Amino acid sequence: MDIAAEAVRSTLSYIVGNRDPVIDFFDTSTRPTPKMLDAMRTAPVGDDVYGEDPTVRELEAAAAGLLGTDAALFVPSGTMANLIAVMLHARNGEAVIGEARTHLLTAETGGVAAVAGVMPQPVFADRGVLLGEHVEAAMLPDDVHRPTAALAWIENTHNVAGGTVTTPGEVAGVVDVCRRHGLALHIDGARLFNAAVALGVPVSQLTRGATSVTIALSKGLGAPVGSLLAASRDDIARARRVRKMLGGAMRQAGVVAAAGLLALRRGVDHLAEDHARARRLAAALADVEDVDVDPLAVETNIVIARFPGRDAHDVVARLRDAGVKVAARPPDGVRLVTHRDLSDADVSSAVAAVRSAVTSKARIPAT
Ligand SMILES: *Cc1c(COP(=O)(O)O)cnc(C)c1O
Repeated sequence: MDIAAEAVRSTLSYIVGNRDPVIDFFDTSTRPTPKMLDAMRTAPVGDDVYGEDPTVRELEAAAAGLLGTDAALFVPSGTMANLIAVMLHARNGEAVIGEARTHLLTAETGGVAAVAGVMPQPVFADRGVLLGEHVEAAMLPDDVHRPTAALAWIENTHNVAGGTVTTPGEVAGVVDVCRRHGLALHIDGARLFNAAVALGVPVSQLTRGATSVTIALSKGLGAPVGSLLAASRDDIARARRVRKMLGGAMRQAGVVAAAGLLALRRGVDHLAEDHARARRLAAALADVEDVDVDPLAVETNIVIARFPGRDAHDVVARLRDAGVKVAARPPDGVRLVTHRDLSDADVSSAVAAVRSAVTSKARIPAT
């Protein structure tokens, strides 16, 4: 092996070996598997800006096949996939109707407004599940004072609402209203495979009638990097130009697409186990005094635990000190997401850490 290849190998083994001892409840934290690293090392590559990377092409074709669209585009992040979708379907000054807590409107740095110049029209929906009736109610009268709605937005599963699932019937209801009003429909399916596994249906059933779909390879599917935008051939041709404009066209991207292909083909295999672990985690946390968890609300791999009377950021810091990494859900909650790199033992240790974190502050410990 030559020196350069050896350097790559040792760098990669450093990445894999450099595991933080923390128990990490983020599904973005998974490390590439040895199989992924092998695939990355041996992937045929080319210049993807010119469409010459065979591994990227294979990934895009595989994603389109699974999602039931003509074509797909590999992008560096879900945020970019979503922004491109907005720019494809809505013009400057037009509106997007989406659930108020959806990732596009709460966690993408306002790109929808700042970059796309599109007006967010948020609607609150129970469990974060946008229904046809919400879109219908949000349609403003055709009036010179109002922005024109161009796009409806579904997030499946819904992250902030706690990994909640939108069913094919619910999607069909939104598709119906969109068709009636001439709206495009985008599905932010960063965790779409989790929804499909929870429902026991192929992902293509969840995308029926949508104009475009985002999926993330770097969440539950376990790849280190990357998302895909899937849509019609024409829309993907336009999306390729927008991606270039946003600076997201990559050169020998097959190196990362190779890991993405394995994620797409095999990443779904462990999702049912992740979901079972999330349910076990919720049931165990529900038994801890002063913690509010509804195990029945756990539909996929996300658990929201509330700590009444405490500050979410304080709980996150205490758990971090105890070796457990979770996300704050202010005012008094935290989010725990299960994934491939967590074991049953990790879940048990985390529950023990939560128990001591909430009982250590001059309280009578639960017996
Ligand atoms: C993570 C996530 C995104 C954005 O993905 P990045 O790759 O982090 O930019 C979009 N939508 C949802 C629902 C997500 O959970």
